[in-house]
Amino acid sequence: MTLSLSRRAFALGLPTTALILGALPRVAGATAASAPTDAVTPLAQISIGRFTVTALSDGYGDMPFGYFPGRTAEQVEARAQFAARPTGIRFVFNQYLVKDGERRILIDTGPASSLGQTGQLPDALAARGIRRDQLDAVIVTHLHQDHLGGLVAGGRRNFPNAEVYVDRRDVKHWTDPAKQVRAPDYLQNSFSFSGELVRLYPRLQAVDGEPGIMRGVSIVDLTGHTPGHIGVRIEDAGQRLIMVSDMLFPVVHPAAIGGQLPV
Ligand SMILES: [Zn+2]
Repeated sequence: MTLSLSRRAFALGLPTTALILGALPRVAGATAASAPTDAVTPLAQISIGRFTVTALSDGYGDMPFGYFPGRTAEQVEARAQFAARPTGIRFVFNQYLVKDGERRILIDTGPASSLGQTGQLPDALAARGIRRDQLDAVIVTHLHQDHLGGLVAGGRRNFPNAEVYVDRRDVKHWTDPAKQVRAPDYLQNSFSFSGELVRLYPRLQAVDGEPGIMRGVSIVDLTGHTPGHIGVRIEDAGQRLIMVSDMLFPVVHPAAIGGQLPV
């Protein structure tokens, strides 16, 4: 199902990750001129200067209509990208592989079987000839379980050679026992996975502000969805791509796109 999505999905905003394109005309031109060379057809792929950004998927989860309080099933479905009748809508969990010919960076790691039909990211990487121990860096946009899970699934350090970057405010929030005690059930995995993250990755890079990760890759502060929600800016050769996650949910945040649903 996911492989049938076109590159246009980038611009439309995939369910769990959306992209904001900077310098759009130049990006569009670069995209058209740079056909993927990998053997596996990508979910979506775009080139920014020397970088290639490829969308991967860890799988999907079907969320019940009751997950969106205050809206009827019809209102929710009208805004959803994928319906999962009769019970709800389908969320696809995406991650992004960024390569520049030298380094491999992964943005987010998926729920890793902790919810829905997920756990496919290792296979998605393998299909592109990449093992998890070959990732140089993993940037986690925030410490919700569907972005963090793959790092710690099975209680193991699944990306043993990667520098792992997370905003310091999220590390503080999601490892605070007092906050975990007060948190609802659906956030408990995010807390427990965050504890695992700190335990398994002692060299975790807890970043402040908007630092550069490497030449052409830097952090964007997007605090709001979580205290330390971040995006990733990729720029090279006059082209720029800002990658964001969980900001443009048409169902959850209708006002953000000019929708008419009650909030
Ligand atoms: Zn989130």
